[in-house]
Amino acid sequence: MKRVFNFSAGPATLPEEVLIQAKEELLDWHGSKMSVMEMSHRSKEFLSIAEESERDLRELLSVPSNYKILFIQGGATLQFSMVPLNLMTKNGGADYIKTGTWGKKAAQEAQAYGQVKIIADTHTEKGFLSEPDAESLVFSKSADYIHYTPNETIEGVEFSYVPDTGDLPLVADMSSTILSRPIDISQFGIIYAGAQKNIGPAGLTIVIIREDLINKSLTKVPTMLRYETHSNNQSMYNTPPTYSWYLAGLVFKWLIKKGGLQSISEANKSKADLLYSVIDSSKFYNNPVEKICRSKMNITFTLANKDLQDKFISHAHDEGLVALKGHRSVGGMRASIYNAMPLEGVRALTDFMSEFERKNG
Ligand SMILES: *Cc1c(COP(=O)(O)O)cnc(C)c1O
Repeated sequence: MKRVFNFSAGPATLPEEVLIQAKEELLDWHGSKMSVMEMSHRSKEFLSIAEESERDLRELLSVPSNYKILFIQGGATLQFSMVPLNLMTKNGGADYIKTGTWGKKAAQEAQAYGQVKIIADTHTEKGFLSEPDAESLVFSKSADYIHYTPNETIEGVEFSYVPDTGDLPLVADMSSTILSRPIDISQFGIIYAGAQKNIGPAGLTIVIIREDLINKSLTKVPTMLRYETHSNNQSMYNTPPTYSWYLAGLVFKWLIKKGGLQSISEANKSKADLLYSVIDSSKFYNNPVEKICRSKMNITFTLANKDLQDKFISHAHDEGLVALKGHRSVGGMRASIYNAMPLEGVRALTDFMSEFERKNG
């Protein structure tokens, strides 16, 4: 069976090798004569899966020892609430940077819990297409933290730098960029990511948190919404999403085998360069995002002739190039090309685009 090239923004394509391995292990994991899905999360088999996946993730991202990694549920969206609930406790306020839809949502949610100051908002009548200048960012001295979205999945805008917040904790929603390139974890207070973009199946959320930010004195925060609860219980206060966690572990092994994040970031750059070069060299396609902050993971584009859009999407689909429709809020097209999308898939897309332009341009 020939599988499609799936450009969905999430849940997104997974490495085929990982799916094959999961299939082989589906009924009998390593001689246990049962599926990972059927195992107690407290069994020694699952504990070994959990520990090994954490070890591999630590290795991939070089996570310093004063950071905890939590494997929890609720998606990135629950982090929009958990971050302020747990961190807006000293001064009751935080700074937010808005460069797209997700950052906007995060800021909106935080407003329920304290003073939210929007210190940058790149929205214009054309949408979110740029990043703020690093020098233009002025942080509130009393902010409990600074929140931003390194890669805005819907608009395809990716920060070209990490804001330098000094002693103020920087919180990053890395749902659509985590593991796409090496990062220096020590620049961040908290990193969170829903798994279904670049980690594994939906249902799992990863939180990497500096230990001093795990607040121990919260009283009104529900038990399940405290970082402390998950940290003190190795993410097993209640039943974690075991199968998603296991699959994420297989993805980490796949990344290590591929040479780690330096190597995957080079592959990601080649894929993005190829797609942007086809867009930029034509008057038929257009990407409106400022070049410096174009996403390497989610590439948006429009057609000069909007009437051809439905035809483009349906013909692409017939060629096995699926889920290219842009987010309903911005329209146009979007190709999400996370780690698991092979260069071959991007080449199939650019070949199709050139051919479609030749026939319809
Ligand atoms: C997909 C996404 C979200 C929402 O994730 P859920 O896991 O569905 O809650 C939030 N932020 C970013 C940057 C995303 O890409």
